[in-house]
Amino acid sequence: MAVRIDGKAVSAKVREQVAQEVASLKAQGVCPGLAVIIVGDDPASKIYVNNKKKACQATGIYSEEYALPGDTSQKELLDLVADLNHKEDIHGILVQSPLPKGLDEKAVVEAIDPQKDVDAFHAYNVGKIMIGDYHFLPCTPAGIMELLKAYDIAVEGKQCVVIGRSNIVGKPMAMLLLHQNGTVTVCHSRTKNLAEITRQGDILVSAAGKSHFVTADMVKPGAVVIDVGMNRDENGKLCGDVDFDGVELVASYITPVPGGVGPMTIAMLLKNTVTAAKLQNDLL
Ligand code: NAP
Repeated sequence: MAVRIDGKAVSAKVREQVAQEVASLKAQGVCPGLAVIIVGDDPASKIYVNNKKKACQATGIYSEEYALPGDTSQKELLDLVADLNHKEDIHGILVQSPLPKGLDEKAVVEAIDPQKDVDAFHAYNVGKIMIGDYHFLPCTPAGIMELLKAYDIAVEGKQCVVIGRSNIVGKPMAMLLLHQNGTVTVCHSRTKNLAEITRQGDILVSAAGKSHFVTADMVKPGAVVIDVGMNRDENGKLCGDVDFDGVELVASYITPVPGGVGPMTIAMLLKNTVTAAKLQNDLL
């Protein structure tokens, strides 16, 4: 039976460290500040933004929320980003995804000052990650690396299989595992013989966004299984990509959903905001 990786406990520790760093920065006259922009009224996005705001409050990070109507124009959004780029009490800018149809998300991300890009989605930061010389890591893959570290799970020399190649999860995940000397295979919707490949994974990360997708027969006995998926099952209940009950019997470690990767994502956002504040005040 696999050990359940407790993302809530690990994220609580990260938040505690963040709170300490915030206190020490405040003593030096710097209060880390995060601006969160949300456009339209997607209910899930509202919940995420609210959680981020609460997490900021709990760790002493100053936060501002910009809730814009769904008919906001591209120019209005870009103007706001430009203002925030120059706002001295704001060190991190986050634009909640997805934006309503008609708004160009890529252009908005590219408009954020790379030093304030706490999601690490800007092409500059993506490039820095690629060459292994970075200040910010995208929050979800960074959170996963933190979980592996917390459980003393070494990556070096391991076969790592990542399902998914999105810019926010799959690709950076593969890169971080590679930086830690894993041998990485990235799978996607055109991958042939998926189960054959996933069964080779000592570490299997699933970010396909499909419930009950990874079943026990796709998992190497003793593998570490990281479930990034946040899906709704037939009954509307939150679930991951992994068929938890079956895979738990085969894996050595497994992340539950909820309570695994999810809590780490916000914790790493807070960490990135502190890094951004240090970076902009020459304190790194
Ligand atoms: P995405 O952009 O939709 O990417 C999904 C990836 O899975 C794509 O690369 C896709 O391949 C691949 N895929 C889809 N069906 C597949 C199949 N049958 N076989 C193999 N690969 C397949 O999603 P995302 O933004 O990366 O997010 C993935 C999941 O993680 C979602 O459930 C999302 O909600 C969740 N998520 C969770 C957190 C968290 O904090 N826990 C954060 C971010 C995302 P193609 O490229 O070929 O289409």
